[in-house]
Amino acid sequence: MHIAVVGAGLSGLTVVRQLQSQGHHVTVYEKSAGVSGRMSTRQTELGGFDHGAQYFTASSDRFKKEINDWKKLGWVAPWEEKLVSLDHGQSKPAGKSATRYVATPGMNALGKQLAHGLDVRKEQQIVGLEAHGNQWLLKVQADTVAIAASAGPFDAVLLAIPADQAAPLLGEFPAFAVEATKSIMLPCWTLMLGFQTSLELPYGGAWVNQSRLSWIARDNSKPLRRSGERWIAQASPAWSIEHLEEDPERAKEKLLKAFHEATGSWIQPIHAVVHRWRFAQSEHPLPFDFLWDVNRKVGVCGDWFAAGLEGGGRVENAFLSAVALAKTIG
Ligand SMILES: Cc1cc2nc3c(=O)[nH]c(=O)nc-3n(C[C@H](O)[C@H](O)[C@H](O)COP(=O)(O)OP(=O)(O)OC[C@H]3O[C@@H](n4cnc5c(N)ncnc54)[C@H](O)[C@@H]3O)c2cc1C
Repeated sequence: MHIAVVGAGLSGLTVVRQLQSQGHHVTVYEKSAGVSGRMSTRQTELGGFDHGAQYFTASSDRFKKEINDWKKLGWVAPWEEKLVSLDHGQSKPAGKSATRYVATPGMNALGKQLAHGLDVRKEQQIVGLEAHGNQWLLKVQADTVAIAASAGPFDAVLLAIPADQAAPLLGEFPAFAVEATKSIMLPCWTLMLGFQTSLELPYGGAWVNQSRLSWIARDNSKPLRRSGERWIAQASPAWSIEHLEEDPERAKEKLLKAFHEATGSWIQPIHAVVHRWRFAQSEHPLPFDFLWDVNRKVGVCGDWFAAGLEGGGRVENAFLSAVALAKTIG
């Protein structure tokens, strides 16, 4: 089949690689200028900031095997820094967890490796699906062209995008659109901080309690990063929801204050930028692997499916959902 995949994040790239290995011809449409989606790295003069996914773990044998392959290729490495939990400036060691992995030299590097050799059409946003006999045409909006053009026809279309972005494309599949609205994607305000000197904090990352923040991490403590003190601070879901439409400068001031309070370090940053993720992680992952209409050949995968795991909204869900959808398509 000639298949169109919408979205070049981890789930999109995974489903494409699987389908190609099964003999299908696949074209990927990605609205951004780069691949990797929420496994992202913002490049600055001070070095990169992983401002989306922080790290990933594996609980399934299937994902463990894949990570092992990526490790051998040098695409990912364990992040073995000390992590703590912070409560009003007091730090406690974090509980034991599965090995935490990061892509190297930045989180978006994994997507770049996975996209190598694939037919990825960047800066092309899909704004509609149109039935064309037994096939599908995609309405494509590119920034450079005022009106949407058509691409296709394709025998099948797969959406590998966040639930809230998938729902408007599922007009012909009302039952799927209803499922998408159930997964509830939470926002996340993220602060990127660069410092001239080390903050000399005795940990590489921390879960923060009783604060506007829920997580902070020293980006340069991850393997194969550029030197230079760089921190990420993520606001809690509750704070991000409450301040969703906050002016970015105000959000930055408030989160910077929370960072100082949480760490007890009052050194001023030389770089401070905020990013608002409107759809960061799913609060209610759907309790199955993917959606697939076998007659009309339209499917949906991504991290908002539990895909056999407890919980969702993680890199492992995105991977397993994509693998399961490709297997079903055959
Ligand atoms: C702040 C934050 C922190 C996180 N922390 C962690 C963590 O620590 N551990 C963990 O495991 N996971 C974490 N995650 C979640 C993790 O990033 C995701 O689970 C995973 O990256 C999802 O991959 P995906 O392919 O399903 O979706 P995405 O990565 O969102 O990929 C979807 C792609 O589709 C594109 N797209 C969307 N709509 C269209 C359209 N209409 N047309 C064309 N292209 C489109 C987007 O630009 C994007 O590139 C975090 C996410 C965020 C935002």
